[in-house]
This record gives sequence, C-alpha cells and structure tokens, in this order.
Amino acid sequence: MTDSPRIHLGSVLRASSDDAHAQGTLDDLQYEQGGEKLTLRFAQPAPFEVSVNALGGHELYLQGSFEPVVVMECARCLRDVAVPLDLTLGTLMRHDPSADAPYLEEAESGEEVLVFSSPELDLSAYLAETTLLAAPLSVLHDEACKGLCQVCGHDLNEGPCAHMAQVPVEEIDDALGAPEGSLHAKQNPFAALADLKVPEE
Ligand SMILES: [Zn+2]
Ligand SMILES: [Zn+2]
Repeated sequence: MTDSPRIHLGSVLRASSDDAHAQGTLDDLQYEQGGEKLTLRFAQPAPFEVSVNALGGHELYLQGSFEPVVVMECARCLRDVAVPLDLTLGTLMRHDPSADAPYLEEAESGEEVLVFSSPELDLSAYLAETTLLAAPLSVLHDEACKGLCQVCGHDLNEGPCAHMAQVPVEEIDDALGAPEGSLHAKQNPFAALADLKVPEE
C-alpha cells in the first residue's frame, strides 16, 4: 500500500456511529516538514491499526498500534540500520472545521491533541511525528563502528586507508571515534536530526 493512511470519520462526526476503524500496511510514510516533502523509510511493510471513538462535543479519542521497522543511517558510517518500533497509539482528537491540515497541539494538560478538519483524516503527519518522537536520535550499526575517513570517505570498518597512518592507532577510541581534531574525527550526520520535527503551528 503506497497511499497515505486514512480513516473515515464522517459517520462518527455525524454521530451515526460510535467509532471508526482503519488498518493496513505502509511501505513508507510521506510527510511535510516546513513545506518540504520528506519520506520515512521502512525496512518492511509497517502494519498499523487505528480506531477512533466519539467522546461527545468536538472531541474524539484515537487508539491503536503501529509497528514500523524504520530505516535509519549509522551515525558514523552512514550504512542503513533497521530500527524496529512497537508503538501504542493513544491521542485525544479535536474536530475543528477551520483547521488546515491535521496538526498536533499541546493542550493545557500538556497532553498532545490531534486537531483536524476533514472527515477523511490523513494520518501521515500523525504517524510520522509519533514515529520520530519514539525513534532514537542516532543509531550505530555496531557499537564498535569505526566510521568513515574524513579525508577520503573510506569505510574504516572495511580496513584502514592511506590516511590511517597519520593518526596514531592508540589514539583511536573505538567507542567514541577518533580524538577531536584528528583526520578521523567522529562524524555525526545525525546531529541534524535533533531539529527534525513535524511542523506544529
Ligand atoms: Zn556504522
Ligand atoms: Zn582516508
């Protein structure tokens, strides 16, 4: 299934039904961040199951599960790492016909509330944000990953490169990467991920 995950809430909003259900699998998840279209990659089709109950007024409650195996990059050598997540969903929702796209808002209680307008609710942004919040900020494919040479980009897990000789071997700490300022200083391309969030307005 490559379509975005949707749940039909028309009958719940009209109070002709108490709840609505949706389930399926997602090959990946497209979402927007600051107007930019981004993709969360999954190592295998990710099953989701969602049900929404009317609570009265404009309030509803979403519960369910989502089990993606997120493909992230090793923070040192950039190779793909599969990160399995088992997410339990439970989120208060509010129907606001004036809302643009669905978004998460923090209620006075500190709880997040999913605000939406269209009864054809696209769950992409919600599932993406929930996944990103649960995923680790950075992963290593192996605790002892040696990373890439900063000079030539060679994967040092596959053996030394010509620049290796310029850094005394005893100074290279396998757990933390090479000492700061050396040619093989630790790289952390995932530092940028710390800022990654689904837009909240
Ligand atoms: Zn690695
Ligand atoms: Zn090198």
